[in-house]
Amino acid sequence: MTRRLAILGATGSIGQSALSLLGESALDLEVVCLSAHRNLEALVNASAPWPEARRVLTGRRPGDPSVPAEAGYGFGPEGLLESLEAADPDLVLNGITGAAGIEASAWTLAHGKTLCLANKESLVLGGPWLLSLAAETGARILPVDSEHAAIHQCLRGERRTDIRCIYLTASGGALRDVPLEDLDAIEPTVALRHPNWSMGARITIGSATMMNKAFEVLEAHHLFDLPGDRIRVLLHRQSIVHGMVSFRDGSIVAQLGKPDMRVPIHYCLAWPDRGEFAFDGFDPEEFASLTFETVDPRRFPALALGYECLERGGDAGSVLNAADEIATEAFLKGRISFRKIAEIVEKVLERHVPRPISSIEEILAADEWAREEARRCLDSV
Ligand code: NDP
Ligand code: MG
Repeated sequence: MTRRLAILGATGSIGQSALSLLGESALDLEVVCLSAHRNLEALVNASAPWPEARRVLTGRRPGDPSVPAEAGYGFGPEGLLESLEAADPDLVLNGITGAAGIEASAWTLAHGKTLCLANKESLVLGGPWLLSLAAETGARILPVDSEHAAIHQCLRGERRTDIRCIYLTASGGALRDVPLEDLDAIEPTVALRHPNWSMGARITIGSATMMNKAFEVLEAHHLFDLPGDRIRVLLHRQSIVHGMVSFRDGSIVAQLGKPDMRVPIHYCLAWPDRGEFAFDGFDPEEFASLTFETVDPRRFPALALGYECLERGGDAGSVLNAADEIATEAFLKGRISFRKIAEIVEKVLERHVPRPISSIEEILAADEWAREEARRCLDSV
């Protein structure tokens, strides 16, 4: 039976990968809703093969003179939820970037739909709250993030109680070999040159600071219900092994593949089937040299902040994400140096007193507080 799919963040890196694979795969899916923030032209192009689909511009208001006044457009964050309601998808691929993605995740889970989740910020901000929504409706979360999709695959048919620990791999990003003393002089364009993956700007910088991996530690904690001391991170330069699970009998199971987000997206969209897709098979050249290193905390101080937020719980994840969003933006605009990103986030966390969260309002209040604090830190840099 054809399943109905919403692609949120359709104009971004994840959204475009999803759309490109739909054209080439045998997946029986109909796209019923697509969203972008402001990029009208890209949204028009993305939705061309799906003329019946609802289209949403979350960053524009109704009556925007540049948007043709034809039926089917939704505007603003509320327009996104209304369009989802009207489109009634079975699956929602959430490829929105940043904290803005959480409301669509909540809608999806509260309506008992399957959430194919690229927007890891949803879980960083509101993990326990989202999981309780899913538990109430029986909705499922399938992780698109490559490391978590890997762990999900390694755990198929396994008992949680048999897990010793999991390993998330990290490429180390664009600056992994730059001498520490040179990091402060790095230009944003250099930090944006990821060696293995092609992704949006924020996550690419998050790769270089390893803040992205800090988020992924929290994401794994919520998805797989594991404490911090059973989630390990390894520097793996080739980005071929995406995740590994070590079981209590001494076996380690890994998932391998080329660094191409279409693979985990396809995995989630096809689940529980494997589906057929024309990715290359095993090429020994590609797998000839796989290396794993421990992460140097002096180079990547941001990683420890993820573990710290995991211990603090409550709204600490909201603060981590919001402060990083502000600091990363400031770095991209040339306002602060690269190493100041983690420093600012750490400062904001030091000033924060964690509180438990039980609603979106509480999550957003912590987000707002952290943004203000981070801006104050920027002013004093
Ligand atoms: P991009 O920056 O490439 O795309 C972001 C998408 O979200 C665009 O469609 C953009 O619309 C839309 N958007 C931007 N701001 C908002 C907002 N405030 N409200 C609603 N929509 C918004 O990001 P990526 O595709 O790289 O990343 C998307 C998510 O997936 C992130 O959470 C990231 O961490 C995660 N992820 C990405 C991976 C990757 O390979 N790219 C890998 C693993 C996870 P517009 O074009 O109009 O600005
Ligand atoms: Mg990842």
